[in-house]
Amino acid sequence: MSIYYEDSRDIYIIVPLRDAKSYPSRPNVDLLLPTRRFAGECYFWIYTNAKHPIIEFWNERLLPRKVADKDGRRWLFMGKKALKLDLASPPIIRFYGLKDPAGDICLITSNKDFIPHGGFADVERQILGYNRESLGMSQIIPNVAIVGRPVKFRLIFTAGLAGIKRGGRIRLTIPRIFSKPQIKDPDGDGYLEIVKADAQLEILSIEVSRDSWEWIDVTAEFKEDLIPGGKVIICYKAGRTQIVPFRYEGTDRSYWFSKMPPMAISVMPSVRGYFAHLAQEHSHTLTFKADMPDRLHLIIPSHARTGERIVLHGIFTDKFRNLSDDHPKHANVRLKLIGRGLEEDLGGPRNFYGRYAFKMLLDPLPKGVYRIKAESPSGRFVSLSNPIKVEDSSPNLYWGDIHAHSEMSDGIGSPEYFYWHARNIACLDFAALTDHACYFTDNEWLWMQDLANMHNKPGKFVSLIGFEWSGREGDRNFYTWRDELPLLRGTNPRADSLRKVWRIIEGMEKEIIVIPHHSLLNVKWESHNPSFERLIEIYSMWGSSESADMQLWRMPKHGISVMQILSEGSKLGFTAGSDNHDGRAGFSGEGAYYTSIYVPLGFRSGLTAIYASDLSRREIFNSLRRRRCYATTGERIIISFQINDLCMGSEGVWDGSARIKGEVHGTSRISRLELIRNGETIWSMQPNRMDVAFSWEDHQSPDELVYYYLRVEQADGNLAWTSPIWLTR
Ligand SMILES: [Zn+2]
Repeated sequence: MSIYYEDSRDIYIIVPLRDAKSYPSRPNVDLLLPTRRFAGECYFWIYTNAKHPIIEFWNERLLPRKVADKDGRRWLFMGKKALKLDLASPPIIRFYGLKDPAGDICLITSNKDFIPHGGFADVERQILGYNRESLGMSQIIPNVAIVGRPVKFRLIFTAGLAGIKRGGRIRLTIPRIFSKPQIKDPDGDGYLEIVKADAQLEILSIEVSRDSWEWIDVTAEFKEDLIPGGKVIICYKAGRTQIVPFRYEGTDRSYWFSKMPPMAISVMPSVRGYFAHLAQEHSHTLTFKADMPDRLHLIIPSHARTGERIVLHGIFTDKFRNLSDDHPKHANVRLKLIGRGLEEDLGGPRNFYGRYAFKMLLDPLPKGVYRIKAESPSGRFVSLSNPIKVEDSSPNLYWGDIHAHSEMSDGIGSPEYFYWHARNIACLDFAALTDHACYFTDNEWLWMQDLANMHNKPGKFVSLIGFEWSGREGDRNFYTWRDELPLLRGTNPRADSLRKVWRIIEGMEKEIIVIPHHSLLNVKWESHNPSFERLIEIYSMWGSSESADMQLWRMPKHGISVMQILSEGSKLGFTAGSDNHDGRAGFSGEGAYYTSIYVPLGFRSGLTAIYASDLSRREIFNSLRRRRCYATTGERIIISFQINDLCMGSEGVWDGSARIKGEVHGTSRISRLELIRNGETIWSMQPNRMDVAFSWEDHQSPDELVYYYLRVEQADGNLAWTSPIWLTR
């Protein structure tokens, strides 16, 4: 864990290199430099037993100014460099030539007169004037909470050996997704109160942290000395907490997405000094657990051939779609097959795996459209699966989510958990973990690619290698069908604009696909490259960017809508994903409010459906390139859509009319079908049933280029969008 201090004059960053990442066969270790806002000249030191260590910073190298010939660990001055730190873009720092990095330390300071002595604790004491261990300790009651339920927290802080002098301060940090702390209304949500203090303590401010826009800092000042062992008790009433199970721990504020528990404490022991957070082992943790099982999700494939057996997955979750720790067998659920006007009893769920999921093999079915229904006598679990269409020969329709984040960037959940969950719980056919390229190191990327390759099982589950790039033109996700992908960071001056990026990947058009997302939020379209940008994510947990007046959008609109992009002549197919930050592609936590750890995402996770010849990286990628895909708000709605026998995503020629043909099988009543032609709805119907086939002919000759896409709206509010079909006159 790195340590970062600053006062009005100087910064000090102490980075223990045991945190640095290595990869077999790589000559260097690397790590993200912890950041807060800073710009200025900095002095680089390294505490090492290496003879000729090298620090590499983007593309610049720092070498020892004086090499001592002593063998033991000693501080080497590595020179100075102008440093510009920003909350959102931690630089990558690489170290070469180290013998035993686990014991080495790097120190970066703006104080040119500072000369470090000794190891980590010594340098820390040199800067702070005291030991971190002597700051004190904190406890929180309760330290286990249930997702989504209000909690009244009681925090007990006990001052350490140093005590706190009059004028000293404590700071409590609360994640912004929790109720906003306030001290005015004792009956109101977020009420925070000092209920006991052994020395007079006064709350000075409650404001968004300058270290992270996702935290609120509450700062309080002591009006008299708090003696060693003196206590402070603070209560905080949180009506809104967290809806994803997670253990908050750690006190380190190095990154804006550091996972501190609510009311994590930093202490400034005297008027003149630094805020230092409590030692991790002296600080409280808080675990959020899933609620009782409340929902049953039934998932079957969308297509099957006659004679083929069908796998039904059932997943019990709490009301926020979290896997519950309680065994739901007592649910006493009956399953029924519905289709062709008949109902057939399938008995109760069998073949549980884990506590919360089951997998049943169903007998082959005759041609038709079917769904599985679940009911429990209490009425608690009522559920309907997605539709399955059984035919003599059927297309392959695959479901996936290729936009999700994990603890490798600003989310939670390990990448291993991500792949396990995507395949076994979300029942996805394909997925991609697209962590933010700017928040992991090169060595971590090598390891992440290995993991993606390991989890790719052709015919069963496809993992695409991907990452998210953020730069001045907004966010883009990069994917390949290959087993490696060059990493591009928008924080790296070499790849901070799309113009530079296109130059780097030139010639790889057949290997890389680039998909912009939440275009309404921040996407700029001037540098569009049609060879790479073949698709756009029309929907995710941010909402839908389809048009500027979407209901499914609550964020600012600094970007451009999908309709606007299409009207400019760009030919893009549609995908939908989650963009969740809880390591759960295609089946993320969902609720009435903030559904991510920090990032405020207000909608449920979306899904992409792909028509492909088989389930392999190559074919999934090719179908994406050919735009043989459609987007939904998370429901596995079956859609086929053709114009003049061209399938979705195709380009054709106007031959006198557009003969439109389609079929939709919903997961709820289909309330409306709309055909969009060049931004306008030119045909619609209100089927008010779950299965509908339609055809229509458009005779109105286009001026030049015309695009059509189908928009499906269900009675339950879910939506789907087919990729457009283009006709040229
Ligand atoms: Zn994302």
